[in-house]
Amino acid sequence: DSTAPPRPVPPAAYAPVPMEITGEVTADDAEGASLERALRSTQSALRRLELLAESTTDVIGIVEADGTPSYLNRAGLDLLGIDADGPAGFDPRRAYTDASWEVLMTHAVPAAMRDGHWRGELDMQSACGEVIPVSQVMVCHRDADGSVEFFGSVSRDMRARRTLERHLQRKANHDDLTGLPGRTPIVEHLDAAVRAASDGARAAVVFIDLDRFKVVNDSLGHHAGDRVLCEIARRLVHAVGPDDLAGRFGGDEFVVVRPAVSGDDDALALAARIRDEITGYVEVHGGNVHLTSSIGVAVAEPGACADDVLRDAEVALYEAKAQGRDAVAVFDQRLRDRAVARLDTECDLRRAISGDQFRLRYQPIVDLVTGEVRAFEALIRWEHPTRGLLLPAEFLDVAEETGLIVDIGRWVVAEACREAGTWVRRLDAGDDRPPPSIFVNLSARELLEQDLPALVAACVRSAGLRPLQLHLEITEQALMTDLDAAGSIVQGIRDGGVRFALDDFGTGQSSLAYLRQFPIGVVKIDRSFVLNLGDPVTTAIIEGVVALAHRLGTTTIAEGIETPEQASRLRALGCAWGQGNLFSVPLPACELASLATPAARVPLPV
Ligand code: C2E
Ligand code: MG
Ligand code: MG
Repeated sequence: DSTAPPRPVPPAAYAPVPMEITGEVTADDAEGASLERALRSTQSALRRLELLAESTTDVIGIVEADGTPSYLNRAGLDLLGIDADGPAGFDPRRAYTDASWEVLMTHAVPAAMRDGHWRGELDMQSACGEVIPVSQVMVCHRDADGSVEFFGSVSRDMRARRTLERHLQRKANHDDLTGLPGRTPIVEHLDAAVRAASDGARAAVVFIDLDRFKVVNDSLGHHAGDRVLCEIARRLVHAVGPDDLAGRFGGDEFVVVRPAVSGDDDALALAARIRDEITGYVEVHGGNVHLTSSIGVAVAEPGACADDVLRDAEVALYEAKAQGRDAVAVFDQRLRDRAVARLDTECDLRRAISGDQFRLRYQPIVDLVTGEVRAFEALIRWEHPTRGLLLPAEFLDVAEETGLIVDIGRWVVAEACREAGTWVRRLDAGDDRPPPSIFVNLSARELLEQDLPALVAACVRSAGLRPLQLHLEITEQALMTDLDAAGSIVQGIRDGGVRFALDDFGTGQSSLAYLRQFPIGVVKIDRSFVLNLGDPVTTAIIEGVVALAHRLGTTTIAEGIETPEQASRLRALGCAWGQGNLFSVPLPACELASLATPAARVPLPV
């Protein structure tokens, strides 16, 4: 208890080296009396200091200039196991480990002699051989003529502090739940391995992600999820070798670092072993959950850093997931090329926006009964300076991942409206039939832009369009990403009179509930349905969708019509409008002349 007063120590015990103060005193002269008073007060001051020295837990010692110990306090005697006879005859060398004695002799003592004091950390050794880390201050005291008189030292036991430090360190570096090393030690370990690598022995990373772990968490609760993670951690540790480091990277992601493999095969063998070990049932709440994992493997390239290898392994992991999960993929040349190509695409895309490299193509949407052209869908193309004309599939993913789609999308809306405005202006005076309207695709990311309603309204206005001539195509996926945010933006745009079409219907949840929740006037039935018109189930679905849409006052458009048979079947099923290469491939604006007029018709199969 640190608040308790120092325990008084019996004089016999605390005076191992009697401190004598001697002098000739004559009691009967005045000078002698004052000397005696001075002497008494000195003795009393000494006694107090000694009391302090004896009550502290720090080790306090005095060693004479010749190296013989002359004083050691109680804490020191206890630590070194010296009995009450005192330290005389004790070899100070025995109080330290060999390494620390070396430090003491070569650094500490010379420094104290030079500067008067030294401060540092040493390892003392108890009587029973226990090593005690101490923080020590040593002073070198010289007498009036400058020669060394004695060395004094105060040493503080650092064991408790070290333990606390280690505990804190461990807590920071280890995952509380599984006890596995966390991200920091994984990266450090990999870093060291990558540096130590040679041609025949390169570092490898196995990146593991549990499949559908979220389902376990959501359906059985977090407690069950924790149980699963602990069990997986246990299996993982069992699967790896003594030189490997298995850690938890976060969530349901685990990483194994193997410091030296001879190549991909070696690393894949480790991954296969890990997968075998992890795959299987885990018992939670008395029931069993079957677990699989997706695994990405990467072997360090010469000159790579830890982050590079981890990123490569993660790319391979995505590949394993894309292969349908429960799979192992290695980061090989093909993935490397793809990653590089994506990066190139990203760089080029940034330049494409300012460099005016995007173009729009327009594909007519026709009335399946009359063949009249009702609208055009604007489809983006990228006139790449070296790769030629690129389709959306070649760059939209990257544009969406990087957020560049937002700026691209703004351009598309403005450009499509501007072009549709020219159709309005080409109308003959007095012709009151509406010109074809324009359909523009929006990506999920764009639907989260707060200023989209204002932007759309401005484009419509400056193009001289009526709002109802513009339709924005959105997918179920886009609405699902953030229903509340997307919903309010959709409503904001709809309030301005612009309409919405649900694109690619049938590829997502295919829930017509959205038609009730959102102001959607058109449903575009995906090409995959049109391709399977021969299948009775598909036919029944289309029929159902068309009937329901009709009841809700919604128009249906079938996409990707390529043959006259498809066109007539869809018409027979009640689908109002159609779009596809049968009628026209997407065309540049300059080739639309005759199609973009109110009277335009395409020939229909009979
Ligand atoms: P989407 O909106 O479903 O557009 C229809 C796609 O089907 C277009 O592909 C079109 O060229 C293609 N297509 C039309 N008729 C036929 C046919 O008879 N047979 C076949 N096989 N295909 C046909 P495209 O132009 O490659 O566009 C692909 C997707 O890229 C679009 O699918 C749309 O989701 C997206 N997209 C295109 N332009 C834009 C844009 O400006 N912004 C955004 N956010 N996405 C766009
Ligand atoms: Mg579309
Ligand atoms: Mg579509």
